[in-house]
Amino acid sequence: MKVLVLGGAGYIGSHTVYELINDGFEVVIIDNLETGHKQAIHKDAKFYQGDLRNKEFLNDVFKQEKNIDGIIHFAANSLVGESMQNPLKYYDNNLLGTKVLLEAMLENNIKNIVFSSTAATYGEPKNIPILEDDLTEPTNTYGETKLAMEKMFKWVSKAHNLKYVSLRYFNACGAYYDGTIGEAHNPETHLIPIVLQVANGTREQINIFGDDYNTKDGTCIRDYIHVTDLAQAHILAIKYLINGGDNNIFNLGNGVGFTVKEVIETAEKVTGKHIKAVISERRAGDPAVLVASSEKAKSVLGWKPKFNSLEDIINSAWKWHRSHPNGFED
Ligand code: UDP
Repeated sequence: MKVLVLGGAGYIGSHTVYELINDGFEVVIIDNLETGHKQAIHKDAKFYQGDLRNKEFLNDVFKQEKNIDGIIHFAANSLVGESMQNPLKYYDNNLLGTKVLLEAMLENNIKNIVFSSTAATYGEPKNIPILEDDLTEPTNTYGETKLAMEKMFKWVSKAHNLKYVSLRYFNACGAYYDGTIGEAHNPETHLIPIVLQVANGTREQINIFGDDYNTKDGTCIRDYIHVTDLAQAHILAIKYLINGGDNNIFNLGNGVGFTVKEVIETAEKVTGKHIKAVISERRAGDPAVLVASSEKAKSVLGWKPKFNSLEDIINSAWKWHRSHPNGFED
């Protein structure tokens, strides 16, 4: 089976490509390398550098790559903080990019797509754990653009013969088992990589964004899910569509929440280093608690996440950060 991965040089995209290739898929990657890394591209994947807002480019790729069974779409901006400072960047890349992609899919008769959505579509949840049909009221632009993407797929699917699966990730983290690829954003904004950069000596401290939330220690609670478990969910989802599955939305998380302080304490235990933490202002757009129910992905897709302890997840991330203190520059 042949899959086109948009954003296959990025963090979750590259891990998914590795798992697809391990699973025997033929993989074609499109990435504009704005946030992705050349070094993260699997050597057995075919790579086209370009932007999904460029329809001519997409049509060229589709012309060259016949018989694509499905698309997995990661190519988007995904930072809560940045999305609050520069909302139009998110509307442009996440929504306009997806619109152009959908036009090219229809023109080239490609029917199946799995794409990245997010826990940020829910906003401040009314119930924990969160179910897929709970209220979606994003508290940040990033979540709003992802929710709008989901709706774009819904209406386009009603009008045309196209099927989609939206995967709402909770907090992706960890690295490939052998430590050859991992998380490397520039600038880094995510909690676990920043904490591990303090541990590996490339950063002085972690700023805790608020300790006055209504949680057990006042810091935000998130559901941390390993990137290779996410990658496996994409493979199950694309197979589900290729085998005739209908449009669907799935949460992907471990169903257990950890506070920012608990993440830092676990990282200290895993690395054996003191991690300097300083309480700072809340970050705009952050809900207090996000924890998933992933029962639907387990029952419909047969998804079985392998990493269910925070210690194991941080240990896998540490293997990458310890051996690559400067990310892919090393
Ligand atoms: N966070 C923090 N300091 C940082 C980065 C993140 O306290 O330098 C907190 C953030 O407020 C959130 C949690 O850590 O509650 C996870 O944030 P991250 O940016 O990793 O992922 P997000 O939840 O935004 O997808």
